[in-house]
Amino acid sequence: MAKKKTEQKAWPEKWHEVNPGCMVFAAGNAANTKTGSWKSQRPVWDNAKCIKCGICYIFCPEACIQDTQDGFYEANLDYCKGCGICAHECWPGAIVMREEEE
Ligand code: SF4
Ligand code: SF4
Repeated sequence: MAKKKTEQKAWPEKWHEVNPGCMVFAAGNAANTKTGSWKSQRPVWDNAKCIKCGICYIFCPEACIQDTQDGFYEANLDYCKGCGICAHECWPGAIVMREEEE
């Protein structure tokens, strides 16, 4: 029986089901695949030093930093990989990386 067009396969697909070029056609599927569980460090914000410039937001390669209602920033740790780029780029030193186990 033919599958309905709206039916989506669960990820991961079998190797012979992967689309040419590894194209993923299920829009928004990243929300179902949390990528932050393997990090060894997490960013911690000190809002007393933050000048709300948004540099951390711009540089995060995972786009997991969000602005809060009061204009500061925080990471969605479900998607943070702990790369430390935000802390490196924050020139006022408002972000420090802490060991996950601390
Ligand atoms: S880069 Fe640093 S100072 Fe700028 S918004 Fe982010 S935490 Fe605040
Ligand atoms: S540690 Fe890396 S992935 Fe996590 S919030 Fe900072 S820049 Fe983004």
